[in-house]
Amino acid sequence: MADYDYDVLVIGAGPGGYVAAIRAAQLGLKTACAEGRETLGGTCLNVGCIPSKALLHASELYEEAHSGALAKFGVNISGTRLDLGQMHAEKEKAVGELTGGIAFLFKKNKVDWLKGYASFTAADTVTVDGRSVRAKNIIIATGSSVTPLPGVAVDQKVVVDSTGALALSRVPGHLVVIGGGVIGLELGSVWRRLGAKVTVVEYVDQILPGFDDEVRKESAKLFKKQGFEIRTATRVTGVTVKGGKATVSIEPAAGGAAESLAADAVLVAIGRRPNTNNLGLDKAGVALNARGQIEVDHRFATGVSGIWAIGDVTPGPMLAHKAEDEGIAVAENIAGLTGIVNHDVIPSVVYTHPEIAGVGLTEEQAKARGEVKVGKFPFAGNSRAKTNRDTDGFVKIVADAKSDRVLGVHIISSLAGTMIAQAAQAMEFGATSEDIAYTCHAHPTHSEAMKEAAMAVTGKPIHI
Ligand code: FAD
Ligand code: NAD
Repeated sequence: MADYDYDVLVIGAGPGGYVAAIRAAQLGLKTACAEGRETLGGTCLNVGCIPSKALLHASELYEEAHSGALAKFGVNISGTRLDLGQMHAEKEKAVGELTGGIAFLFKKNKVDWLKGYASFTAADTVTVDGRSVRAKNIIIATGSSVTPLPGVAVDQKVVVDSTGALALSRVPGHLVVIGGGVIGLELGSVWRRLGAKVTVVEYVDQILPGFDDEVRKESAKLFKKQGFEIRTATRVTGVTVKGGKATVSIEPAAGGAAESLAADAVLVAIGRRPNTNNLGLDKAGVALNARGQIEVDHRFATGVSGIWAIGDVTPGPMLAHKAEDEGIAVAENIAGLTGIVNHDVIPSVVYTHPEIAGVGLTEEQAKARGEVKVGKFPFAGNSRAKTNRDTDGFVKIVADAKSDRVLGVHIISSLAGTMIAQAAQAMEFGATSEDIAYTCHAHPTHSEAMKEAAMAVTGKPIHI
């Protein structure tokens, strides 16, 4: 290693970076990870997946207890009271335990945490907190940040981004969410359950970009039933804040009469963009594509020898598990092994109630490529869902018409996030719908809906 400080230096300790660092160290490479935040774990553990799921869980419990929904099961609760401070405290505890866990794993695996923001000074050298560090391989895993909406200033009090929306100290009377994507619907759900009226303003004509069309339509119906107001094909033209209240100006995206919405809080959730500023990429010779992302090949190598990139900073879905799998693969590739990620099989889950999950091609994408067969089974025909009085949603399986190979699976169900793993594994193994249909599924479980949807591909479901 002569004059290198490290075999591998990872920039960023999110799910991509910390996993890459641990795997590289496990493979015997001398590894460091630079992270500018006070704690490890990146967006996901600090201000993303983990705190949002903590609030989704807690708010679901509150709504169940508070709304009287349990009375039909003979569970009568009175005098429920929201203690928002305690809800935030429990969320912080989960975040602290998990970010602390990464620090422990770094120590256990002998990964050096270089505290500070790294910037390239050459293709094999960065400075971190004034110290120059040279590494044989550098993995860029700097993640992404909130996309700002021009003309809308986030103050994290009245106008918040996802980080601010995870920490509101009061339940807003009216929350206007700009963007009907994953963040808008998850965090909108949290505050609606805690008592806010929630209006979602979405620029295009449907919520949940990227999901199967039928799933998008059915989810919009279910969210509206829960009390969400959803204004699709609507543009926000400005937000003004006065005396702690906001006025959101909107108009039809296609043009038309303007309106204004009075809000106690506004959440801007129109997407995220890759973190490449102040990274000195020009000094390393790494170029960006038109979307500001770092392009990589199937090994996660950039065009510059010894520089690799993974996670949100690269093209593809901005998901923690995609970043993690790329982290493992890039470390294995650097170590001379064969690290692979099958980007055709990356599940995606929206953790609302019901959950919404998908993997592989949507029906529209599959049809654009060739002839397909589609099997669908509603939870209204699933015995466990009926027993639990939890029948919203369906499973839909899209298979190739000739080979019967499963091309995509889409689920709306309280357990969709857990159920989608079976579909991902089946697809990874190249399963046909018949393979799923002839797999014995335990009774009574929601998973039987997957088997029935597979049976429906050939027109033979039993319970409908
Ligand atoms: P990040 O997690 O963004 O980590 C990058 C790290 O790099 C950051 O800690 C940053 O401080 C550090 N960094 C940046 N530049 C430098 C530098 N120059 N030097 C040193 N360090 C640097 N995904 C899911 O799969 N499931 C979910 O449920 C989910 N929920 C989410 C909820 C919210 C509210 C948000 C905002 C996101 C959510 N995501 C979820 C997306 C998920 O958080 C990201 O896809 C994931 O964190 C990406 O991992 P990453 O390692 O690429 O980057
Ligand atoms: P998103 O891309 O999911 O949704 C953004 C939405 O905003 C889209 O529907 C888009 O059409 C709309 N939009 C864009 N510009 C607009 C405008 N000017 N006015 C109104 N609407 C506008 O982005 P997000 O919800 O901000 O989430 C960012 C990323 O974080 C996503 O890529 C997602 O993968 C990730 N994330 C994942 C999870 C999860 O896996 N459960 C949870 C949260 C976030």
